[in-house]
Amino acid sequence: MRLIFLGPPGAGKGTQAAILANLWQIPHISTGDILRQAIAGKTSLGIQAKAHVDAGELVPNILIMAMIRERFGQRDTEKGWILDGFPRNISQADALDQLLQIMRQPYGFAVNFTVPTDILVERMLGRGRQDDNEAIIRRRLEVYHEQTAPLIEFYQRRQCLKTIDANLPVEQVTNMLQESLRQPVEV
Ligand code: AMP
Repeated sequence: MRLIFLGPPGAGKGTQAAILANLWQIPHISTGDILRQAIAGKTSLGIQAKAHVDAGELVPNILIMAMIRERFGQRDTEKGWILDGFPRNISQADALDQLLQIMRQPYGFAVNFTVPTDILVERMLGRGRQDDNEAIIRRRLEVYHEQTAPLIEFYQRRQCLKTIDANLPVEQVTNMLQESLRQPVEV
């Protein structure tokens, strides 16, 4: 299984990616998690990324692509993977297409998680992460609408998009997701 999880911050992509990755024993690749670890460890990547993450802005593509290339260089990705929080803009999606072509690892589906905005803000405030104060949350949502939401159409055009109502209890979302992945794509 090779999946791309799309959707606004707070939609529950990370929760679902962790559940399914564990079930299928494939890596859950979260660029946000990798960045938070790098920041905590004060690595060169972390130092360069910190100001962007703290401001709710995207980290420059060049840093993200270096991170992704390194992650895909690890053997465990041969079994499949779930990408969570990447790609975040069209240029990353193009770069991912190229990388996967070189690796002969086409993705199966992109899954779009939908949740109403007021619920997203509520969920993120409840999480208490450092980049989860209200002003930064609003900025991250703006960045999502400006830069990431166009990916919905990008993957729809490639006829590999699934849409999931993620405003439901975790278990129900997991079940719907599994069911939806068994069905052909709605064109
Ligand atoms: P997330 O945990 O996916 O919400 O990511 C937290 C923060 O990490 C984002 O607000 C961005 O600053 C940064 N980030 C994560 N993934 C990416 C990406 N693919 N491209 C650029 N920045 C990213």
